[in-house]
Amino acid sequence: MTEVRSFSASHRTAFLEEMASRQLDLLVIGGGITGVGIALDAVSRGLSVGLIEKRDFGSGTSSRSTKLIHGGLRYLKQGEIKLVKEVGRERELLYRNAPHIVIPEKMLLPLIEGGNYGKWATSIGLWIYDILAGVKKEERRIMLDKQQTEELEPLLRKDILRGAGLYIEYRTDDARLTIEVAKTAVSRGALCVNYAEAVELLYDNSRLAGVNVKDHRSGNNYSIFAKKVVNAAGPWVDAVRTMDNSLQGKRLHLTKGVHLVLPRDRLPLRQAIYFDVPDGRMIFAIPRDDTTYIGTTDTNYDSDIDTPLVSKDDVKYLLKAVNNMFPSVNLTNGDVVSSWVGLRPLIHEDGKSPSELSRKDEIFLSSSGLISIAGGKLTGFRKMAERVVDLVCNQIGIETGRLFSGCITDQIVLSGGNFSDYGGEEGIREKLRNQAIEYKLPESELLSLIGKYGTESFRIVEMAKVLDPEANPILLAEIQYTIENEMSISISDFAIRRSGRIFFEKESLMEIYPTLHPHFMELQGVDHESRSEDLIDFERELKNTVYFE
Ligand code: FAD
Repeated sequence: MTEVRSFSASHRTAFLEEMASRQLDLLVIGGGITGVGIALDAVSRGLSVGLIEKRDFGSGTSSRSTKLIHGGLRYLKQGEIKLVKEVGRERELLYRNAPHIVIPEKMLLPLIEGGNYGKWATSIGLWIYDILAGVKKEERRIMLDKQQTEELEPLLRKDILRGAGLYIEYRTDDARLTIEVAKTAVSRGALCVNYAEAVELLYDNSRLAGVNVKDHRSGNNYSIFAKKVVNAAGPWVDAVRTMDNSLQGKRLHLTKGVHLVLPRDRLPLRQAIYFDVPDGRMIFAIPRDDTTYIGTTDTNYDSDIDTPLVSKDDVKYLLKAVNNMFPSVNLTNGDVVSSWVGLRPLIHEDGKSPSELSRKDEIFLSSSGLISIAGGKLTGFRKMAERVVDLVCNQIGIETGRLFSGCITDQIVLSGGNFSDYGGEEGIREKLRNQAIEYKLPESELLSLIGKYGTESFRIVEMAKVLDPEANPILLAEIQYTIENEMSISISDFAIRRSGRIFFEKESLMEIYPTLHPHFMELQGVDHESRSEDLIDFERELKNTVYFE
């Protein structure tokens, strides 16, 4: 049994050394939602598990999605009933196990002349969606007429409006979900390390036996051996299959999806909206804090996987779509304050356009034993993991006679999600309000921690209460928490994937980041000269949020 340590940046080397010191049951390549989900499932069934991620956890597609935990209404239209049902049920489970980062969000689906959805089809479609996804009675869809829709959302274009459906989706923070799953896996004994890349596969008589891993922070290499190796590298799945000389048959088909962030007062929607674009597609506009984000595009992608960029055409397409549906807002390029771009690791199907490609996941087995998983959705990560780990347990069982329990991740509350211990969210808010008074800390800042860290917010308060009250104690404590408990290594890790500030609080981030960087380095005990490349990297990331090629 693996000794359990905290998910601290200072444990990276020890984790890598431990992985290299013995044969693991399972080594996972890729620290996106798919990989960390597999690590959590496997460790909770008693396997010894390692996971390596070449950049930061969630830095691939899993921080660049629409950030919805959803049953996928559009998949119903495509007849993918099984997929809608499965991810719909997952929604419910995730809401129960991670209530701090899976938040119900009312979604308005306007019905327009010549649009994707007619009144009756929408009413029946949303009803089926609610039933398949197990939606609670009080959350089920309501149909609105034109006047009710206009009252609910006055910014909508009126001439083509016929009415609307109002239904419940769930908003999340994809990168935080990834981190919470990884943190929970580590708390159960998995060894998960970021900035550690699989650079070569190792074989024993043509059977895959392990991986050569490069630690990008120290420059050291490790040979890590495992009974089973799972390739959960998202858009890089085929690159790992190429390393294994097994890229035959089905392949990935990458499509690019862009989101733009606007100040809330430039697109002051009253709730999230899923609306028609004149080309027949549909996009989301989702209010979040002081911003509203819009997306997504869906175009074929065959350029550099490591650094996809937003193009001017992407921006034009999205702003035109919004201006068409909300004519009074008149958005221009100058309104965009931030953006992100992700690649969907879908499975190629001849003759299908990006939007027609199935979002189903599939497992590929190579003759060397490499297990690759591709496709799927953020929402369905737990079931994807279950299928992979069932296979791994079955194979190890046959080879060694060991027996493993079935999947239990539906019962595992993720880190920060144990709301019931405090009498629900109101109980947490109450306790934080009292702490704000007791320790003279700003209440609104304390309360805003809940949506990121859930019940772990109390640990941040413990760190903040001993800091200088005049010098941003909560922010500094938040950084310390992410370094010591979420393997945050650089300011980019913190500002992009631990806190989402680069997207949703960019203005304040721009003011404070130069002073945060030295603090970050100091907390990690590194000379900040030697890590100035982290700052350069971060400034590149900042620039890219408003750079359109
Ligand atoms: P990734 O997150 O890309 O993880 C793979 C990881 O592997 C990367 O971090 C990478 O650095 C690492 N890696 C690669 N090669 C190596 C190597 N050699 N060694 C070590 N590590 C390596 N789903 C939803 O449910 N809801 C949504 O709202 C939604 N919206 C989306 C919108 C867009 C625009 C896109 C692109 C996708 C969306 N999805 C959504 C789908 C969802 O985001 C993806 O299915 C999911 O994030 C894929 O996760 P992953 O772990 O498979 O891949």
